[in-house]
Amino acid sequence: MVNNAAGVLELMRRLVTWDDASTVTFGGSLIVSPKSVAPYSELFSHEYGHILQARAIGDDWAYRLIYVLNTLGTSHATHPMEREANQLARLPSDWNGAPIDNYQSPFWYLRVRP
Ligand SMILES: [Zn+2]
Repeated sequence: MVNNAAGVLELMRRLVTWDDASTVTFGGSLIVSPKSVAPYSELFSHEYGHILQARAIGDDWAYRLIYVLNTLGTSHATHPMEREANQLARLPSDWNGAPIDNYQSPFWYLRVRP
């Protein structure tokens, strides 16, 4: 998890998102955010869902390709991998980033480096 990304990682994130705010999971061991994502938060847990997807696929480039191919004809709310990441994080399938009252991450057991 790279918070407050700068340099090459922030450039990579911007090239993918074309925005100032979105957090991106690039593969099975890299989440890049322009902000500070709280451990065990909704966003952290959603992105960790993408980590699990990438690890299940087994190859970061295959994960990225499959993600992009699934983007065709979908929105963030209907993209199957976004919906699955939300489900893995025990969020509503069409979660849009809004805080959830009394949210409990299913990944509470992870040790998170600050
Ligand atoms: Zn996502």
